[in-house]
Amino acid sequence: TKMEGRNGYRFFHPEMQRMAEFRLSMEQELHRAIQGQEFTLHYQPQVDTEGRTVGLEALLRWQHPTMGTLGPDKYIGIAEETGLIVPLGRQILRMACGQLQIWKAQGFQGTMAVNISARQFRDPYFVKDVQDALAETGVDPGSLLLEITESVFLDNLEESIEKMEDLCATGIRFSVDDFGTGYSSLTYLKRLPLYEIKIDRSFTRDAVSNDFSRAIIRTIVTIAEHLQMTVIAEGVETDDQQKTLIELGCRRFQGYYTGRPVPADQIFAEQKKSDQ
Ligand code: C2E
Ligand code: CA
Ligand code: CA
Ligand code: CA
Repeated sequence: TKMEGRNGYRFFHPEMQRMAEFRLSMEQELHRAIQGQEFTLHYQPQVDTEGRTVGLEALLRWQHPTMGTLGPDKYIGIAEETGLIVPLGRQILRMACGQLQIWKAQGFQGTMAVNISARQFRDPYFVKDVQDALAETGVDPGSLLLEITESVFLDNLEESIEKMEDLCATGIRFSVDDFGTGYSSLTYLKRLPLYEIKIDRSFTRDAVSNDFSRAIIRTIVTIAEHLQMTVIAEGVETDDQQKTLIELGCRRFQGYYTGRPVPADQIFAEQKKSDQ
């Protein structure tokens, strides 16, 4: 190719160029979509052993003008790397809190869980952004649960603890997402102001058939009890999985079995159907 140097060394591989072009156009697309408010949220129920919806998780969707509804996996990484997750994250917090306030007025008493990326959490205005979203929508801080992964606090434990404590002091609670998939030790758990541990989908998936996954789940439940934290299992797809999780001491569930992520206008409509 033209990019090949005199000694035959390729400075720029065509594949890399395509990647760079894709990223640049994606960045521009994301920027435009944030301005144009093309992002929406779907909501997935979190249920107790009686099947009652005790919480909802907000999950990002892009209402793309030509490509339809896009889940976050394809673009969330680029939004993080470019820093666009910061303004997007502000929109997400406002949308989730605004919707929660509507449901609260209709009698919903559960919590709203919002995913926070590492880049967003590290932003110097993060605490203020969260407080602004609450103030503007009138949501009580005790109804908001921020889901963070281990990667969020591992980089800078002391600073993260401080930030989390500032938010906890206002009544906001934290949940640690995808728990058990990172490389961290269990010891940080007792140092962080965490309300909830989310058992990763990979353990839920194997719970019925795999002794080792069951042992991990049992361990997480035991540790959570000691630290007075709540446990929720994610990715519950079958009745067998839920039964196994109950046997292992888990009392909260989220997954396709009890409800898929759906647009706001469908979430309580579906529940009414199943109540009949
Ligand atoms: P996550 O936080 O672990 O979210 C759970 C993912 O599992 C969601 O995928 C959800 O749709 C999916 N899921 C729920 N129940 C089941 C099940 O029973 N089986 C299976 N196979 N999957 C299930 P989704 O919506 O595509 O989100 C993917 C990831 O993108 C999320 O993983 C989260 O890390 C990130 N994300 C989603 N929304 C946001 C957001 O608003 N902000 C940020 N920063 N990240 C987000
Ligand atoms: Ca999550
Ligand atoms: Ca998760
Ligand atoms: Ca995840």
